Amino acid sequence: MAATPRRFPVHRIYCVGRNYADHVREMGAEPERAPPVFFTKPADAVVENGAAVAYPPATANLQHEIELVVALGSGGRDIAVARALDHVFGYAAGNDLTRRDLQAAAKAQGQPWDAAKGFDCSAPLAAIRPAAAGHPTHGRIWLEVNGVLRQESDVSQMLWDVPHIIAALSRLFELRAGDLIFTGTPAGVGALKVGDRIVGGVEGLEVLQHSVAAAAAG
Ligand code: MN
Repeated sequence: MAATPRRFPVHRIYCVGRNYADHVREMGAEPERAPPVFFTKPADAVVENGAAVAYPPATANLQHEIELVVALGSGGRDIAVARALDHVFGYAAGNDLTRRDLQAAAKAQGQPWDAAKGFDCSAPLAAIRPAAAGHPTHGRIWLEVNGVLRQESDVSQMLWDVPHIIAALSRLFELRAGDLIFTGTPAGVGALKVGDRIVGGVEGLEVLQHSVAAAAAG
């Protein structure tokens, strides 16, 4: 592995659900211009690039979701859309790992998504590219499993773009330096199994890679 990158001090991890129309449809819903859906993961769910992620417990349907991730360098409340990008430190490719069977059960029973989304090691993340190199308003987003393309879209297809996501989140929470925002995944999500190699990314950003290892011993 290359030299250890300087670590971004993660404060919170926010995630946006249902942010690409094709993924909303594959999950059995209709895209609509409703306010964005947010959920969270614990800050220590981040896994560095290149890791072997142990297959998590309590699921038979672990799934990948490649996403553009926004890292905030500053925060605040009630941030205006026009000023939102001023708060971005940088961008990275991330995988919003999901225990899909637990999510489906939670949805059916009107229960929260924490167990489906916020489990240990559920946020593999590649290196953060500083925003000075540009804001990725368009560009290919893709993910392969064992060399087979599973997800492919363009970040310009997000229903809510990064400035609107930051503005909406800042009306619910006081945003802070160190916050990460997973901005949603396009269509093509699917199951992972032990031994799989996942490679994915967003055009212009470091490629994310990780594998799925055997479940950790109790
Ligand atoms: Mn997601």
